[in-house]
Amino acid sequence: MRKIDKIIIHCTATSEGRAVTVDEIRRWHKERGFSDIGYHYVIYLDGSVHEGRPIEKVGAHCKGHNSNSIGIAYVGGLDKKNNHANTMTPRQEESLFKLIQELKAKYPSIKVVLGHNDFAATACPCFNVSRWLYLKNKMAQP
Ligand SMILES: [Zn+2]
Repeated sequence: MRKIDKIIIHCTATSEGRAVTVDEIRRWHKERGFSDIGYHYVIYLDGSVHEGRPIEKVGAHCKGHNSNSIGIAYVGGLDKKNNHANTMTPRQEESLFKLIQELKAKYPSIKVVLGHNDFAATACPCFNVSRWLYLKNKMAQP
C-alpha cells in the first residue's frame, strides 16, 4: 500500500441538483488524458459513496499532492447560475464526514484533511474544509 498522509476534498463542479455518476466523471477524465477517474471516492447527491480509482492507486486530483493523498469529490459545486457554491446536501455532508472518519481510522498515517483550494488557486470544493471539519468535530463531541 502506498503511504497516505492526507485527504483532499473536491467538488465535481457541476450544477446543483444534477446527478453525476462515477462513469460520467471517468469519461471526462479519460477525455483529459487520465488513465481512469481522478478521484478515489465520489459522493452522490443522495449521500451514497461510490468508489472511483482504487485507493491503492495514485489519484489524479491535485497537482503535486497525488502520490500521498486520497481524493474525495462530492457531486455539485455550482449553483443554478453556475457560480461556485457549496451545494452539498445534508446527506452528502453526513457521508463526507463519515467517510473521512472511516478513512482516518483505517489509515492512521493521515495527518490532514484539506480542500483542493488549500493547495491551488481554485474555488474547489467551494467551502473551507478546515472550518467545516472543525465545526463538525465540535458538534460530534459527546
Ligand atoms: Zn478539485
